[in-house]
Amino acid sequence: MKSDILFLHAPSVYDFRKRSIMFGPVSDLVPSTPIFEMYPIGFSILSEYLERFGYKARVVNIALWMLKEKRFDPEKFISRLSSPLVFGIDLHWLPHAHGSLELAKILKKYHPHTPILFGGFSSTYFHEELIKYPEVDFVLKGDSTEEPLRMLIESLKKGSKDFSHIPNLSWKDSSGAVHSNPIEYVPDSLEHINLDYSHVMRSVVRYRDLTSYIPFINWWEYPIVAALSCRGCTKNCATCGGSSFTFQNFYGRERIAMRPPELLARDVIRITNYMRSPIFILGDLRQGGEGYARIFLKSLKDAKVTNEVALEFFTPPPPGFFKVVSDSLPNWSLEISLETHDEVLRERFGKASFTHDELVISLKAAFKYGCKRADIYFMTGIPGQTKKSVLETVDYCKNLYEELGGDSRLIVFISPMAPFLDPGSRAFENPSRFGYKLLCKTLKDHHEALLLPSWKYIMNYESETLPQDELVEATYESALGLNKVKSRYGAISASRARIIEKRIVQAREVMKRIDEIMEKYFGERELALEELRLEMKKHSISTVCDKRELEWKTSYFSRFKVGRILAMLLSKGW
Ligand code: SF4
Repeated sequence: MKSDILFLHAPSVYDFRKRSIMFGPVSDLVPSTPIFEMYPIGFSILSEYLERFGYKARVVNIALWMLKEKRFDPEKFISRLSSPLVFGIDLHWLPHAHGSLELAKILKKYHPHTPILFGGFSSTYFHEELIKYPEVDFVLKGDSTEEPLRMLIESLKKGSKDFSHIPNLSWKDSSGAVHSNPIEYVPDSLEHINLDYSHVMRSVVRYRDLTSYIPFINWWEYPIVAALSCRGCTKNCATCGGSSFTFQNFYGRERIAMRPPELLARDVIRITNYMRSPIFILGDLRQGGEGYARIFLKSLKDAKVTNEVALEFFTPPPPGFFKVVSDSLPNWSLEISLETHDEVLRERFGKASFTHDELVISLKAAFKYGCKRADIYFMTGIPGQTKKSVLETVDYCKNLYEELGGDSRLIVFISPMAPFLDPGSRAFENPSRFGYKLLCKTLKDHHEALLLPSWKYIMNYESETLPQDELVEATYESALGLNKVKSRYGAISASRARIIEKRIVQAREVMKRIDEIMEKYFGERELALEELRLEMKKHSISTVCDKRELEWKTSYFSRFKVGRILAMLLSKGW
């Protein structure tokens, strides 16, 4: 079936299957692989919005197809696609800088008369550079593009060549001159969107393409789904491209937009109609105020939601908050990113200032009220951090387990802030203030950096207090330490800890071998990297921890309500 817009999701590096790159632990703490095959949630939201107005939208996940099927030839696949009105490519997080642009080139080669649209945070930040690429026709800027995209498709359908009335759009006219319409579509609330997974299920049937709609490669084993509470953020983490600073200065958003709590609850309840999988609520509910969180939780209580619900917090909530959560949900967990144990560095990082005692009081209350697991995240590479400080985080975690009575529901993680500082973040805009040297500035710089042989070389920054070699060492060393700590307190089994330890030691070795190879002459270097390719690939997943540590223990066969899915498909059609 021909669609009006065909959204395509590229792998981070287009020809990753042929290249020797040690991506390292950059994706160990997210469900996808280092290829970042997870397509953005925005594809589902935009598709549903457009279809409400009678337009057909299809998603093709090229990254996932390439990962899943060795024989899948993306170029041949693209050459056989029937041209839509417009192709849409996401360049949201910068690690897609290579794959997305290469994909655009191939699309243009086989569909020279079909315009190509880019969108997402990185597209917005680099819109002036991006629109100059010959294969890029449009860039939709900002965090919300539902209505501008509808207007663009309407104009293309009418054959219009003038797009000056479409907010947020950068475009080229027939002479090739570039126009940048201001970002004026910035909705104050998220009432207009619907994250409706039944729409995704219908698309699977309509386009007979299950692979493209699977969020990440192991999704069938671990089918977690997400609900979106907000756009924007009330916090200002120095390295984050989703901070309030970045939203204000680059995406035209002055204030956070919250999904009304009743609608957010409806999104969650709709998921539970079809699936028993865990549901992750993106964004700290308390950004909407305590009343917001209470309304949301009460709605879930009334609906008797039994799925695991994972709540994200930016700061440790007070004990009373967990009582409300526990009154509403039988299965819930939490996650907090502390960045570092060092309270001074944490405050400087800009997310929040809270003390160790506040954290412990909060976690004790969470466990008392039935929290199934508390995931605590730390990072290496944050401003002012030294190798000594990173290693002290390991001791801190050991003490934290002790203070919590060795509770194995506490699960701690550490990973590098890699490969990139987010463009538009405070640290990217003013690196010296945060003790950083910026190694890549433009989109082209990042496109090229992604082809370097290890995550150490790919990084777009260097910290004065934790230079690249030390950061790599500190990351693997602290991961070894945390692995031991988790095993000691039963958060992971001894046998899993042994496997992880072996993997970390091997990953370190591979990194050293890459460094030695980089000393060689070019021709020799290429050959040696090629010989090391399989080792590099093997040690780019589950190195600082086992990815399975992120998962809830759920029964595989009971995750989908198959009868209800079939009934929905038959009643609504596709
Ligand atoms: S990292 Fe900080 S600024 Fe970025 S989204 Fe999270 S809380 Fe907000």
